[in-house]
Amino acid sequence: MEIANPSNTKDILRKHNLQLKKSLGQNFLIDNNILNKIVETADLTEEDTVIEIGPGIGSLTQKMAETGARVIAVELDDRLIPVLKESLNVYNNIEIVHGDALEVDFSELVDGSFKLVANLPYYITTPIIMRLLEEGFDVEKIVVMIQKEVGERMVASPGGKDYGILSIGVQYHSNPEIAFVVPPTVFIPQPKVESVVIDLKVKEEQNLEVVDEEFFFKVVKSAFHQRRKTIRNSLSKAPYMNLNRDLIDQALEEVGIDPRRRAEKLSIETFAQLSNALFNLTG
Ligand code: SAM
Repeated sequence: MEIANPSNTKDILRKHNLQLKKSLGQNFLIDNNILNKIVETADLTEEDTVIEIGPGIGSLTQKMAETGARVIAVELDDRLIPVLKESLNVYNNIEIVHGDALEVDFSELVDGSFKLVANLPYYITTPIIMRLLEEGFDVEKIVVMIQKEVGERMVASPGGKDYGILSIGVQYHSNPEIAFVVPPTVFIPQPKVESVVIDLKVKEEQNLEVVDEEFFFKVVKSAFHQRRKTIRNSLSKAPYMNLNRDLIDQALEEVGIDPRRRAEKLSIETFAQLSNALFNLTG
């Protein structure tokens, strides 16, 4: 039985007497076409191991298992564990794990590299994605449904209002692309916002030359602390670091950045050069 259509989803919810919890971001997909597009974007084969966060009642889980990939699905809501086990028991390539995606050690679930595919609970989109990118897990690709507005910030280029700390954080670790836009009508219940499926190809090797990663992100955070200010002012006033103006001027000059520019105009490569110059001067 195909889980993802409105009547099957409603039957499963009714049979198990399940009220969906807004607090857990429970908006379930009921459109096979969208599910197929997610699976296509993830480019799954029998060779793949895929971790899914928040399988819900298993609609995406089922589609992914049908490709032959090994699927490990991590769900926080204990009420859904028996439902998933019952609906998906015919598949021998699915494991259901009861756990919190913000805490679970993904490297304990999989030996080797994996893909991460999910219709994410929107209340924790950014922490989940940043955790996957920053904590050194062996993840090669992340294909997730998220709020459109957050997706636009992740892929933004310098110059616009969407470009900021999140764009740089995501683009430091991966090459992100918006795969497609999804309307609220394909979920039960319908969310208030539009969604996108974003495809993050995680970098195998870092192409940016950054001397000290922690220092680089402090510089980025400081630069965007008050985004309407010039780069010179925001760096000297930010609470994350204690840099004196002479040193800032020297670093800006070394890298060839006009001190009156704003952070939102600077590329990630320029931030790398600037943080290296500051790091060497403060060293
Ligand atoms: N995959 C299903 C679908 O597409 O219909 C459900 C997606 S729904 C947007 C998000 C799912 O994430 C819900 O099942 C919710 O219970 C689960 N969830 C919420 N917080 C979680 C967490 N911290 N860890 C794991 N799962 C979580």
